[in-house]
Amino acid sequence: MILVAGGAGYIGSHLVKELVEKEEVLVLDNLSTGHLESVDERATFIQADIGDFNHLDTIFSEYPIRAVMHFAASSLVGESVIDPKKYYANNVGATLNLLNVMVKHRVGRMIFSSTAATYGTPNIEYIDESVPLNPINPYGKSKRMIEEILEDYAKAYDFRFVSLRYFNAAGAHESSVIGESHEPETHLIPIVLEQLAGFREKVSIFGTNYDTPDGTCIRDYIHVTDLANAHILALDNLLSSDSKSAIFNLGNGQGYSVREIIETCEKVTGLQCIVENCEKRPGDPARLVASARKIEQVFGWKAEHNLEEIIESAWNWHREKRF
Ligand code: UDP
Repeated sequence: MILVAGGAGYIGSHLVKELVEKEEVLVLDNLSTGHLESVDERATFIQADIGDFNHLDTIFSEYPIRAVMHFAASSLVGESVIDPKKYYANNVGATLNLLNVMVKHRVGRMIFSSTAATYGTPNIEYIDESVPLNPINPYGKSKRMIEEILEDYAKAYDFRFVSLRYFNAAGAHESSVIGESHEPETHLIPIVLEQLAGFREKVSIFGTNYDTPDGTCIRDYIHVTDLANAHILALDNLLSSDSKSAIFNLGNGQGYSVREIIETCEKVTGLQCIVENCEKRPGDPARLVASARKIEQVFGWKAEHNLEEIIESAWNWHREKRF
């Protein structure tokens, strides 16, 4: 059985939908931001907080858990600057608790959700895993701290991990049953689609004089199902007897500016977006684009969805489920 912590969240619930096809899945989620209705009904669900040692201890005694996939975290950069204690408690403290229950019960395999925010603001075209880490906000720092703890646990205990550094996850499941829904929404693609559907007055473009071809920030958008499939490959690998701990970037390897995202949303929907040019958002690097070469070479993973497909899937889900 595979334990998925945070399996009711955006990325976790998409992973669970793929994983239930081949494994027994136990989802834990405290439902602080996740949605119970997003959890595939083939999975077992327990409402639990990974910071609760005694509850986890009981769960690990009752279920034959072979590995943990850990998505449960707070993940908003801006909020982490305003409320760092929340980020260090949820992302570091609670994860440490989960790790210590794993060690106690000799469950020595973890797939960890990390982030491109661990790199900070590298002035480089394609970021590979050798780029120096210099996270500039508590969110990125909290994720890097756990990677360091994982590295030490792997040296000391019978413990192996794969850490996946996500770039910009986007899109929705092809069934349109689950998709991206945050409250409040801060991510670009859902915000643009909400505007196009008439639920927002306008889209604010945060910064128009960056050192990029059209002056707006460039990001690497990866379909959430491509992301989920990378986790399945990483898990298969981690459960093999000769696996090694490793860290991988997870992105498409292609950069799109904020204006290009808005244009593509307009093209996919046939609607016109109302935008306003605004000040830069603090802490936003001009360009964050992955080199995904390492995960392609080691796991044979390849992103299968392009930007239009990402936006189409998001639009289909928004129309069916939210509007
Ligand atoms: N962005 C924007 N307007 C918005 C939301 C986001 O211009 O209403 C920009 C943001 O500054 C960044 C890019 O869109 O350059 C992607 O932001 P998002 O919050 O989706 O992801 P992040 O890269 O911060 O993880």
